Amino acid sequence: MPDRTPAGESKSTDTPISGTVGGFRVFGVPIRFHFTFVLLLVFLIFVGVGGKQSGATTALYVVALFGSVLVHEICHALVAKLYGLQTHEIVMFPIGGVSRLEKQPKGKQELFIALAGPGINLIIGLALLAAQRDFLPLEKLAVPTDANLVERIALGNLLLGLFNLLPAYPMDGGRILRSIIALRKPEDEATQIAASAGRFLAIAMGLFGLLSQNFVLIFVALFVYLGAAQEGAAARGRSLTSGFPVRAAMITDFHTLSHSNTIREAGDLLLSTSQQDFPVMHGEEVIGLLTRSALLRAMLSAGPDSYVAAAMDRDFLRVSPDLSLSDALAHLSTMRSCALVMDGDRLVGLLTTEHLYEFTMLRQISLAQERTSHQQ
Ligand SMILES: [Zn+2]
Repeated sequence: MPDRTPAGESKSTDTPISGTVGGFRVFGVPIRFHFTFVLLLVFLIFVGVGGKQSGATTALYVVALFGSVLVHEICHALVAKLYGLQTHEIVMFPIGGVSRLEKQPKGKQELFIALAGPGINLIIGLALLAAQRDFLPLEKLAVPTDANLVERIALGNLLLGLFNLLPAYPMDGGRILRSIIALRKPEDEATQIAASAGRFLAIAMGLFGLLSQNFVLIFVALFVYLGAAQEGAAARGRSLTSGFPVRAAMITDFHTLSHSNTIREAGDLLLSTSQQDFPVMHGEEVIGLLTRSALLRAMLSAGPDSYVAAAMDRDFLRVSPDLSLSDALAHLSTMRSCALVMDGDRLVGLLTTEHLYEFTMLRQISLAQERTSHQQ
């Protein structure tokens, strides 16, 4: 199933997927369930009771398919581990699992990590079929009965394997495609090509789903489309920022707050400047970061006379001015849109997603100008 982009390389950016419940560990990898997955299980068991199969067979079938998806994800994680890449977590969604790797695997590593998942499903499917003495005709599988349980589990695995091999990035097949393109082209260009192919296939898949009224397929298409668009944009951002340090794009002209300032004073600063996130100082030392949302929350809950020290984030994101900009980009996310640029203990700048966006826009324009001047 689709594997999410790594959220960044440092622990501080390790934001787990939200909306998950419970969990256990397999080979040290935490496995969690998205709440929609739990809803699906309840739904499947609910609709599965009755019909031509017994309740026990229904339960067995659901558990077997769930196990197949899990084995798929665990195989990704095990091959990643062979390359020394840790898997942060596996989250089970209704349409399959999503593994979160600590960082983007390179070249052939990605090829084998991506192959491992669908590969094991194909092996399980074929092995189960081979173990059957006589094959049931396909049309008999359409009606679930107790007798064709093994064939249905086999078929489920074959479908799971083949479907994931579709070259629709960020699904496994798309990752395989990306790693093959990356053998000849720069990493980020390969991602952009694979992401375009992924978007195209997602649209085709969505249209087919609409025409055949297959809502699961429409759902998967949407998931693939969003994933491809997101990863394509991230790759474009990386290629536009590559070769530059954080220093080149940071904001050096900014305001700070003192820990003894009130939320009212912080609010005044928010209104009178274009800044949204404020470093909070204790003398020369940075002790926190007050974001706009934290400021507004404090204004509503604790009131304007409360102190910024109570509302600020003490566990803020810090980056070095010499860190490469593309690495810094991976650390910033929708959750953390501002990082403090620290030279040792000294605050030297701010790095925000908004500002980085402006930086990449300017880079895009200057690259286009370079190209036209080369042509003349
Ligand atoms: Zn997979």
